[in-house]
Amino acid sequence: MATGSISSEKIDLLIYGPGRPILQNGFSDQFVLHAAETKHDLERLAAVAEKIRGIAVTYHTVHADKSALALFPKLEIVSSFGVGYDHVDSTYAREHNIVVTNTPDVLTEEVADVAMGLLIATLREFVKADRYLRSGLWTTQNYPLSVGSLRDRKVGIVGMGRIGQAIGRRLDASRVPVMYHSRKPAADVSYKNYPDLIEMAKAVDTLIVIVPGGAATANMINAEVLKALGPRGVVINVARGSVVDEQALIAALKSGTILAAGLDVFAKEPAVPEELRAMQNVVLLPHIGSASVVTRNAMDQLVVDNLKAWFAGKPPLTPVAETPVKGR
Ligand code: NDP
Repeated sequence: MATGSISSEKIDLLIYGPGRPILQNGFSDQFVLHAAETKHDLERLAAVAEKIRGIAVTYHTVHADKSALALFPKLEIVSSFGVGYDHVDSTYAREHNIVVTNTPDVLTEEVADVAMGLLIATLREFVKADRYLRSGLWTTQNYPLSVGSLRDRKVGIVGMGRIGQAIGRRLDASRVPVMYHSRKPAADVSYKNYPDLIEMAKAVDTLIVIVPGGAATANMINAEVLKALGPRGVVINVARGSVVDEQALIAALKSGTILAAGLDVFAKEPAVPEELRAMQNVVLLPHIGSASVVTRNAMDQLVVDNLKAWFAGKPPLTPVAETPVKGR
């Protein structure tokens, strides 16, 4: 890995993506900040590109892909906002001695709260019931009983990492049986592990999806998995839109192959297919898993702290698995 040096020399950093106060005000005079809101804006940085040693990637909608990273010959570290970093080319980074960091842990409980809330809202039809009340219909008739309930469910969590385990703790407290699918059994987890996703889908009636995005998980929730889940089936996706075959999901919801879905993420955000928006058996959220003031501030602070640690000659706080840092 490249080595960040401690000296009186100014350090040029790029804030790539939307700017926010903690990012813009969190650095001392030792740093010189440059800004690019979009990939298109990177082209205007030609005059300073060769001085830039660190990049803060401030949202998953800007792509720190090979062609973006290659513009910066002296780049040492990419500090990415969010725990998912499928928008950062970590393979290119590793090959070019560039460290990539993300913001795990500080958002784990928040995202697990959203998954649990979305599950209950989907099963017990909170959004539909709210619309019913506001329309005045309650004054003439009680809201119909919900077909869905958490009481008679078995949940399969797809991805048993930090957030998957936090969702499991919430389901334990709600006395709901949990099992999970991941490529290898998770350490210190007592739930049954299904190495085969189809087998798990057959054994449960609810899937909560919380794996990373990227090529390895693209469309892993496909027509076959939805069919195995069956007509009581509910899919909650708080991972990435790419993980679910959106067209297969729409078809399964329309045909009654599954019962309902709660979605925080979509294939082409912020575009959401009109067919989904017209359905009554889905709850749709605009990618708000970690989006509270307290959690987003903690994530911004970790983006800043990773850069500061690196340029103080210390190890980065949260390097991703592809770019481990040894001997600093
Ligand atoms: P972790 O890295 O801690 O956990 C990931 C889990 O997914 C592990 O259990 C891993 O196990 C499993 N997994 C990875 N690849 C595969 C695969 N190909 N097939 C099956 N299982 C797989 O991550 P976090 O729990 O911290 O975060 C998970 C993801 O949640 C993030 O990457 C992000 O995309 C998403 N997220 C979404 C948010 C939102 O706003 N909706 C907010 C925060 C995160 P194994 O390697 O053994 O397979």
